Amino acid sequence: MALPTDPKAVALLSGGLDSTVAMTMAHRELGVAEALCVNYGQRTFKQELSAAEGICAALSIPLESIKLDIYERLSAGKLLSLKDKALGEDLDFWVPNRNGLLINIAAAVAEGRGLPYVVVGFNIDEGEAFPDNTVEFMEATNRALAYSTLGRVKLISPTATLSKKEIVDIGRRLGAPLELIYSCYSGEELHCAVCPSCKRLAKAFLDAGAQEIIQHKFKSKE
Ligand SMILES: [Zn+2]
Repeated sequence: MALPTDPKAVALLSGGLDSTVAMTMAHRELGVAEALCVNYGQRTFKQELSAAEGICAALSIPLESIKLDIYERLSAGKLLSLKDKALGEDLDFWVPNRNGLLINIAAAVAEGRGLPYVVVGFNIDEGEAFPDNTVEFMEATNRALAYSTLGRVKLISPTATLSKKEIVDIGRRLGAPLELIYSCYSGEELHCAVCPSCKRLAKAFLDAGAQEIIQHKFKSKE
């Protein structure tokens, strides 16, 4: 399938399942001019960046990494802590206003480069746990972006109404590089299999009958 010759989007890429498939979908429809991987002090950044580099190389999309140091002065949430184990409930991993901030950074990049879209990987599974992963949040953000970018930038998420299982299905169909993703809260090289994110990821691939794609990313059980 021929890709658009005049790319129109900036994609926020964490290296996880949802942002990888959302970016792959947008790349085919609109073209992604640039992916952004943001280092906001999360312990998982090294692994996320390494995954993002592989994914962007596979899709021939330029990757920029952005450093955001505002969270260094806040000690909120297990994702920012280097000490805590990656065990806990979803909201233990909440990072204050993270998606709101990252989307606005990406919207600034998009507006500055004259690109009309920002792409993110929302999904209904995480929408149940996190209010900033929902269609409602996307609509509210677009109302604000109409003012803050003079109506030049719109947030889109082609995965927002899909379950993670459906995202795996579509990712496979489109040839998204699913074997390269990183979705664990531990920050270790291999997925821990026990954090909430790993559990969601493993279930999605299991439900899609596609475990073999990510088996090598998980610690083997002793
Ligand atoms: Zn994990």
